[in-house]
Amino acid sequence: MRIFTSKIKGERVVLDGDSHRHVAYALRSKVGDRITLCPQDGCDYSGVIEKITSDKTTVKIVEKFRSLGEPNIELTVYFAIPHKSEKIDLIVQKLTELGVVRMQPIVSKFVQVGAKSVKEDRLARICEEAAKQCGRGVIPKVSTTISFDDMCEELGGYDLAIFAYENEKTVSLKSVLRSSRSIKTVAAIVGSEGGFAPEEASKAAEFGARCVSLGSRILRAETANMALAAAIMYELDEWQIKSEEKGV
Ligand code: SAH
Repeated sequence: MRIFTSKIKGERVVLDGDSHRHVAYALRSKVGDRITLCPQDGCDYSGVIEKITSDKTTVKIVEKFRSLGEPNIELTVYFAIPHKSEKIDLIVQKLTELGVVRMQPIVSKFVQVGAKSVKEDRLARICEEAAKQCGRGVIPKVSTTISFDDMCEELGGYDLAIFAYENEKTVSLKSVLRSSRSIKTVAAIVGSEGGFAPEEASKAAEFGARCVSLGSRILRAETANMALAAAIMYELDEWQIKSEEKGV
């Protein structure tokens, strides 16, 4: 059982409010049960429930170890907003499972909906649920929607920016990833159902992004988001088996 908490100080943590209710009532935990607390500081804290009252659950911390669910690569995905809100939900849930640190909705030329269709509270809940379920140590963020041009201004801040372009006929994702060394921060940019305009691909390239093909089939926007994030994680060695490093 994983619970996201605020900063942990000392060897006991008192949960109240929603986290107490979740642990004590929804999960029906008992004194003596093990629990993992995630204060989002890069570590997981394993503890034992010591006391449960009507409004508080006290946990005694037993062990601290580096969060295994967090990749070394910091991947931010810029996704052009798809038409249907279910697709946004799906993208956000799956990218959370894949270890993305931030998701940034963008409005590009062929996006047919406005920023209003991005329901930030709902997406934050989806992120938290998915992060708990898959064992992340940090809940990723869905940032407030920005324009394609504003996105371009941010691209220089990454070690590598990858622009998935359906009309790219020569450069493969693999060739770009294999020729990049010591990368820590990566941006991945994916279009909506309408794809990207040629002038958008050239502008992103001017700002340092590498336009790549994801193969000879055209993927739907939601598939492209997931496939690109998965391929980046795999190729940059994030699908290794990690072992627990205690006492950090
Ligand atoms: N309507 C467009 C396809 C858009 S697919 C067309 O018919 O051409 C949605 C987005 O997924 C694209 O903008 C791109 O970012 C990504 N994508 C899908 N398939 C791709 C491929 N084979 N190579 C690169 N990017 C792809």
